[in-house]
Amino acid sequence: MTDEGDGDAVYRLPDLRYDYGALEPHISARIMELHHDGHHAAYVDDANRAIERLQEARRGSDFTMLSMLEKNLAFNLSGHVLHSLWWECLSPDGGGEPTGWLAEQLEANFGGFAPFRAHMIEAAATIQGSGWALASWEPTGKRIVIEQAYDHQGNHGQATVPILAIDAWEHAYYLQYENDKRAFLTAVWELVDWPRVAARLDQTSL
Ligand code: FE
Repeated sequence: MTDEGDGDAVYRLPDLRYDYGALEPHISARIMELHHDGHHAAYVDDANRAIERLQEARRGSDFTMLSMLEKNLAFNLSGHVLHSLWWECLSPDGGGEPTGWLAEQLEANFGGFAPFRAHMIEAAATIQGSGWALASWEPTGKRIVIEQAYDHQGNHGQATVPILAIDAWEHAYYLQYENDKRAFLTAVWELVDWPRVAARLDQTSL
């Protein structure tokens, strides 16, 4: 992400590193196209709109709509951040298990990859409504924690930084898997780009 600036429209939809159909058969090209060009693009547009309207509020000294605008910013900016991470975590060449320091952290914090994976799947499967399963670096305890995020921004521990995100909104799977959410949550592990997740952990945990 290269988002920057002090008030103007600053967020941009990132390009995918792979074609829409590259993640088949696990995620269909049509889901990828709608999800990236439709859903993610809307979060980017609405995050920018919230930034602009907050700027207008400051300029006009009119904060009557502030709480609504702050909610819109939190929802849409978090949607942009998590979708950017979602695309980043996936690869047509993904799958397998992590190695190195990431694997050591999963062992130390969860008892190994298998319990970590089972916990992530359960976190994604049991969300009431829409949300995400996040594996996040928690800088105070210097450990990885699993978070069950509601919508994009709820139930999130302060200062934790997601390193792996699984989108558990219906738009992520319903067109292909219908109501078999667990089939999607099982298939997605064939796509996880562990070297990129490990690189993000290295960067985040400095
Ligand atoms: Fe999504």
